[in-house]
Amino acid sequence: MQIVCLDLEGVLIPEIWIEFAERTGIAELRRTTRDEPDYDVLMKYRLDILARNGLGLPAIQEVIDSMGPMAGARDFLDALRADYQVIILSDTFYEFAHPLMRQLGWPTLFCHSLEADETGRLVNYHLRMPDQKREAVRRFKELNFKVVAAGDSYNDTAMLGEAHGGILFHPPENVVREFPQYPVVRDYGSLRVEIDKAFAKAG
Ligand SMILES: [Mg+2]
Repeated sequence: MQIVCLDLEGVLIPEIWIEFAERTGIAELRRTTRDEPDYDVLMKYRLDILARNGLGLPAIQEVIDSMGPMAGARDFLDALRADYQVIILSDTFYEFAHPLMRQLGWPTLFCHSLEADETGRLVNYHLRMPDQKREAVRRFKELNFKVVAAGDSYNDTAMLGEAHGGILFHPPENVVREFPQYPVVRDYGSLRVEIDKAFAKAG
């Protein structure tokens, strides 16, 4: 009765907004929560830029499809799913993740959603609930699962803290310094070793 909760961006796939900005050459889309801490302001700004550039959902999905998962991600995930239940907990949107979920063999994904009008233009976004990564882990524990979680950044630390075991995968240095309690790994082989170790410790 073990569940592995994995972050998506920075763990299995590239950062969608950053990579999207690179591929389309729209530099304004590189803005992140570090530049604009108000998430609602940031999202409205992003949707507005997409609309102004004439990028509707089909065009956006085509770009995202071309990104592909990170090298080795599919093999790592397939092997992990053979031994554990795996749930991906992400702050991205289903509509963005969809082409990459296909390339990852349709793992289970809990994230947020976007609203498009009939022309495919994105008009709004909907967060499923606040602090969903931690809430999901808390609910899995209530269902008597042992949970090990892995992620790469700040938005994962609440989930890592709530789980029986937490692991940082390829995190930026400031996250490593601020959260010294979590083991740090930088490749899939080591991540798998730490996941197995964390479950062994959780009993
Ligand atoms: Mg991430």
